[in-house]
Amino acid sequence: MFNAGEDMTDLTDRLAAGDALTDAEWRFLIEGDYDKHLLFNKADKVRRQYYGTDVYIRGLIEISNYCRNDCLYCGIRRSNANAARYRLSEEEILACCKQGYELGFRTFVLQGGEDGYHTTDRVKQIVAGIKKNHPDCAVTLSLGERPRGDYEIWYQAGAERYLLRHETASCSHYGKLHPSEQRFDDRMACLRTLKEIGYQTGAGFMVGSPFQGTEELIADMRFLQSFQPHMVGIGPFIPHHDTPFAGYPAGSLERTLIMVALTRLTLPKALIPATTALGTIHPQGRELGLKAGANVVMPNLSPVHVRGQYSLYDNKAHTGQEAAEGLEALKESVAQAGYCVVVSRGDASQTWR
Ligand code: SAH
Repeated sequence: MFNAGEDMTDLTDRLAAGDALTDAEWRFLIEGDYDKHLLFNKADKVRRQYYGTDVYIRGLIEISNYCRNDCLYCGIRRSNANAARYRLSEEEILACCKQGYELGFRTFVLQGGEDGYHTTDRVKQIVAGIKKNHPDCAVTLSLGERPRGDYEIWYQAGAERYLLRHETASCSHYGKLHPSEQRFDDRMACLRTLKEIGYQTGAGFMVGSPFQGTEELIADMRFLQSFQPHMVGIGPFIPHHDTPFAGYPAGSLERTLIMVALTRLTLPKALIPATTALGTIHPQGRELGLKAGANVVMPNLSPVHVRGQYSLYDNKAHTGQEAAEGLEALKESVAQAGYCVVVSRGDASQTWR
């Protein structure tokens, strides 16, 4: 039905032009028997059109691993009694930012479990504190689902970006990854709210999560095409030994790279990280992600003593080039891959629709 190389070229051209593809066409791109390097090279070409060789860095601060949610895949789910819990104070967070600024970071990402301790006001204070100390920096939040009022107050305090992966665009699949009190519709509603408020909004999904087939990945791609997020986080699912999904296999490197490349073609101007999870399943994962269309890396800027505790999945990388202190080595390997780490806020393009 499809003829490898030529069809791939035609399909990726149509994708980049914003065309809708049929199920069969998507299926071919995701699992067809063709040379995936053609796909990765095409994604890289599109990425260079908009971003040249720039790689933006974000300092990731994991502010709490307390969580009221119980996502079946996640190591910091509330039911994991073996997780040693911690949360960072405002002073600790501001100290991380100070250190990060000196290293060259111009974006700070505050991520955490859904922790009631981080009240509307507390987060507002922290955001305002970071903006006061570093007016030339961007603040990204990734604190899960909150009422619209919280998102608005934090936006007014100066946060300009929010990461909230949709996890899967299939409602029935969402139900298999989460307990019934966590609703697909709520997550999607939060994403729409964030975009309405004016945040540069990040969606995203895991590749190879339990019960995910090609159909679910097609739904993810169609969701991205219609929602048009500014940022998309894509990483392989990796099992955590203290979760119900402990026995499931991790997502594959190749499939993750394919989804990164297809996302770059679907959203040419998107900010797409080469994720820590990708760097965890393969020693060259990060570089391969960049070569398949990613243009962001998010080194860990959390205080060293808590890093091991933000354990979303087993063997999560948090030293070496995954760590902010490893920035020089990271710059070196990014350069070896043919790109360049830049000191910049790295905003989504101004002309974003
Ligand atoms: N509480 C925030 C942050 C969640 S952690 C929120 O709800 O958005 C950030 C991301 O890590 C999640 O969105 C999920 O996609 C990813 N993650 C969690 N467990 C994982 C696992 N076992 N393997 C791979 N990625 C995982």
